[in-house]
Amino acid sequence: MPKRLGVLTSGGDAQGMNAAIRATVRAALDQGAEVFGIYEGYQGMIDGGKYIRQVEWAATGGILQRGGTILGTARSAEFRTREGRLKAVRNLLQHGIDRLVVIGGDGSLTGANLLRQEWKELCQELVAAGEIEQALADAHPYLTIAGLVGSIDNDMFGTDMTIGADSALHRITDAIDAITSTAASHQRAFVVEVMGRNCGYLALMSALASGADWVLIPENPPDLDDWETKMCDILREGRKNGRRDSIVVVAEGAQDRRGNPITCDQVKQVLETKLDEDVRVTVLGHVQRGGAPSAYDRVLSTLVGAAAANIALGAGENDESVLVGIHHNKITVLPLMECVDKTHELNAAMRGLDFLKAMELRGKNFQESFRTLRTLIRSMPHPPVPGKERIRFAVLNAGGPAPGMNAAVRLAVDKGHIPVGVYRGMRGLITDNLQEMEWMSVSGWAPTGGSELGTSRKVPSGGDLYAIAKTLEKHGIDAILMVGGWAGYQSMLRLYQERANFPAFNIPLICVPASINNNLPGSELSIGADTALNSIVEVVDKIKQSAVASNRCCIVEVMGRYCGYLALMSSIATGAERVYLHEEGVTLKDLQRDIDMLKEGFEHGKRLGLMIRNENANQLYTTPFLSALFEEEGGSLFDVRISVLGHLQQGGDPTPYDRILATRLASKAIDFIEAHYHKGETDESAASIGLLSGDVQFTSLYEIPRLMDEKTQRPKEQWWMGLRPIAKMLAQPGPGFHNLQPRIPNL
Ligand code: ADP
Repeated sequence: MPKRLGVLTSGGDAQGMNAAIRATVRAALDQGAEVFGIYEGYQGMIDGGKYIRQVEWAATGGILQRGGTILGTARSAEFRTREGRLKAVRNLLQHGIDRLVVIGGDGSLTGANLLRQEWKELCQELVAAGEIEQALADAHPYLTIAGLVGSIDNDMFGTDMTIGADSALHRITDAIDAITSTAASHQRAFVVEVMGRNCGYLALMSALASGADWVLIPENPPDLDDWETKMCDILREGRKNGRRDSIVVVAEGAQDRRGNPITCDQVKQVLETKLDEDVRVTVLGHVQRGGAPSAYDRVLSTLVGAAAANIALGAGENDESVLVGIHHNKITVLPLMECVDKTHELNAAMRGLDFLKAMELRGKNFQESFRTLRTLIRSMPHPPVPGKERIRFAVLNAGGPAPGMNAAVRLAVDKGHIPVGVYRGMRGLITDNLQEMEWMSVSGWAPTGGSELGTSRKVPSGGDLYAIAKTLEKHGIDAILMVGGWAGYQSMLRLYQERANFPAFNIPLICVPASINNNLPGSELSIGADTALNSIVEVVDKIKQSAVASNRCCIVEVMGRYCGYLALMSSIATGAERVYLHEEGVTLKDLQRDIDMLKEGFEHGKRLGLMIRNENANQLYTTPFLSALFEEEGGSLFDVRISVLGHLQQGGDPTPYDRILATRLASKAIDFIEAHYHKGETDESAASIGLLSGDVQFTSLYEIPRLMDEKTQRPKEQWWMGLRPIAKMLAQPGPGFHNLQPRIPNL
């Protein structure tokens, strides 16, 4: 008999839960198991009947982009009682379910573990009461649990990100951007309350992403008793210097050092009294939970969902309950109760006013973000530190525009040195088009897309190098900070390689990766890629809606040059059936198989086909070629439409993730310049910065050529190709596709 797995969502809902359900169901079916949806959380498990139903592959079609949870969720007081759990076990046994994937917060996961611990006893109780046969109990001697954290607050130990947190951050950042523009028009102050009773993640990260002026979080209350005066001084100073908006972000659970709650109304009163300003309060509330999941949440949920199903199906009697999470872009599997206990320990530290411990338990990234925010909220540029020299550094963008470039430049300008802006990339250095930047001139840059400085793909050669050396000398430039893509890396490499001929190049040179293609060496992610991915996903959602009405196959062409990052990730995030990558090549045999798959699918009731093609996947099998081929072969079964997404992928306001990444990398890039000032002739003083295994790390420019593939302009190693098998598994038509049925409606 096949193994039977139940999947449920419980506690508060979060965007991305549907993607996790889809991946869990499909991965389990792929393993030959039978899957049951348990509706309305633990209450459905207790009530049984229509609340526990078998789910087929097709039932999870079309849900990836939907917020909320198709299974419904609930809080169940009855499940907290032994009698309640006894009924739950009876219902599970009746369906032969002894493996569970539970998607919820720490409460739901604690409940799941309790059920596992009591399983044997409860089974025997049911036998003794004559409710089930001994043979049935014997056939299911244990229960296995794999937990996924569904919570917008990102409040759980054991995973870098919880399902829903990134989407909530999108909602909040959008809202604060909107509030900022109205606040600036009226010169008003706004107090914005965001969710997070026990966790300041959303408040901290949204403040960092939106350029807010002050933030209050439960883990690290202001360290002064009279923090109100300090806050008002900073806001007043900002106004004096020309800032038109003042935004204070307050986490739901904000408190002072004595543990007294800090509410929005209190903050409002303080601002009104001390600043004599017009102050408005906005409580964002449930909009933070709503809407379509972000690209990141879809990918994250898909990866952890599939892993959880495999683990729950593979576990044996002695395997404890596990939490499946993510750490540095890799799936992690940890003992569930250890994660719950650590989460409770952190909450207890906050309640016990041990803020040092609370911050320590939140981890390095959280602490670093808090420090960066502290630096940023000073209303004036960092005053020069006595005894520390102010460095004149050139800052420029190069390569294609990438959303988040401006956020990086803005941060660099804010660090107390003398920034000199270079216009239009390397061209500006060649033609002497640069100017010292004013601190206030970049104050509104963080949320803007494109490149305010202007960028170009020019890579200097021959006489250009001489011109650049002259410009650097004329302006007394001590270092160069390049925020950009492939052409920027090539240019900086050239300056580095020509150091022996041009002494002016013997200064710190630092490259910050910014390219939507995510094709740069020395960093797992580049600034702009997350925004581009979200732009693609938003458009494909719309294309899917339009196509489903008329039996259509859509071929969507996405950017990336020869790098398949955007194509592969967007295929996972949109549920595409097929993705064409240059890395894998495209053969006629592949295309024949795809046509067969499409024809068979449409013959059996399929209404939509979605194929994603990287712009350079194959030189001859172009997007129009694929379209013509599928159209001809599809006959009257389906028609074909092409969408070449083009430059919309380079535009748009940067996502919170890109803004935060830009801020993080630029901040460390300035630290690098400080550390290598006066040591400009050393190899160590020329480097790229990036995220490697989740940490900010430097790679010497000396190493860079070894890491790049010149011909295809992409790194030799591409970590995300490791996600290819899961994309393939999910994109199958599925075992049940010969009898496609409409999706199971919500109860
Ligand atoms: P979350 O899962 O988001 O933390 P809750 O704490 O409200 O949300 O938990 C959701 C449900 O999980 C509860 O309504 C209850 O049915 C179950 N649950 C929570 N904690 C426990 C527990 N300690 N023992 C048994 N069941 C629990």
